[in-house]
Amino acid sequence: MTQPHVAIVGATGAVGIEMLRCLERRNFPVGKLTLLASARSAGKKLTFRGEEHPIQELTPESFAGVNIALFSAGGGISRDFAPHAVKAGAVVVDNSSAFRMDDTVPLVVPEINAADAKNHRGIIANPNCSTAIALMALYPLHQAFGVKRVFASTYQAVSGTGAQAIEELASQSRAWAAEARAWDDAKLSTPPQVYPHQIAFNALPHVDSFMDSGYTKEEMKMENEGRKIMHHPAFKASVTCVRVPVFRSHSIAISAEFEKPITAASARAVLEKAAGLDVIDDPANKQYPLALDIAGRDNCAVGRLRADCAMENGLAFWVVGDQLLKGAALNAVQIAELLV
Ligand code: NAP
Repeated sequence: MTQPHVAIVGATGAVGIEMLRCLERRNFPVGKLTLLASARSAGKKLTFRGEEHPIQELTPESFAGVNIALFSAGGGISRDFAPHAVKAGAVVVDNSSAFRMDDTVPLVVPEINAADAKNHRGIIANPNCSTAIALMALYPLHQAFGVKRVFASTYQAVSGTGAQAIEELASQSRAWAAEARAWDDAKLSTPPQVYPHQIAFNALPHVDSFMDSGYTKEEMKMENEGRKIMHHPAFKASVTCVRVPVFRSHSIAISAEFEKPITAASARAVLEKAAGLDVIDDPANKQYPLALDIAGRDNCAVGRLRADCAMENGLAFWVVGDQLLKGAALNAVQIAELLV
């Protein structure tokens, strides 16, 4: 495959737009481009390498001649349409959770398990955004010190939910400012559309649906997907996922327990050599990774490294990554790069 015909399913979405930008920015050798979305978007145009490309309505016949199909339109669309793409001869790189835990589908972060991509049978899955970002720091530490378990809390941006959620945070913030309310009168009367509660000026400990265990599905992805990506079936993760009023980039606070002794200095030495990761860790000078700074960057960043005071062989740290990039579009394009 040298000049593949690439299709983006969900091209108009928060992730789809970033996929297009990543293909362009990374000089991906696109031979032909097909942009697909719902009937609502048919006829609209998106620019790629200075040329306008029309958006077509996704149908089962959309994949004739397509070599690589990047799917980013939700799990239901992936389940319904990925088989059509595979039948037409395309390799699907899927951003949804539809196939991630399927034993026949590789789940890939190229910096960690690129070789797994070779075993695909037509579909390769892209991991959950918080999981991918967390593993960018955790996996190098695991290789050096052997991770046993983590306790983590996420601070997830609204763009992780998609275009409508970005608009919800923006419109709620504008409504509050327009009404010139006092700081302690921040609860708006307009009901939320996307989230179960107001997201502006709030923190929602509710990402994805709740399970009988009390955890949400999103919270269990770090353990389940982490085991598969790291080839580490005994890995354990207790996670609380929180949606915060940040537009872009997820932040994750992690306390990790390792087999071997670890210090902030020995961890830093490992993390400084890790691909796709920057170490920003100078708290005395107020330097640590921040969502606003990491937004739009390919590399994730780690900081606040310290020996965890509540466990043996423990390290506490803070990882930030642009979840539209490493958590979605960039990782998908990196997987596509493995195919050409
Ligand atoms: P989004 O902004 O809401 O975009 C959804 C996309 O899907 C739009 O292009 C939309 O097209 C398209 N779509 C919706 N219904 C469709 C249909 N019936 N037929 C064809 N296309 C349809 O959502 P997003 O944030 O980009 O997320 C997309 C997927 O990526 C989801 O599976 C999500 O879980 C996954 N993901 C997202 C992130 C993130 O950070 N946002 C990270 C990792 C994974 P229209 O514009 O025509 O409606």
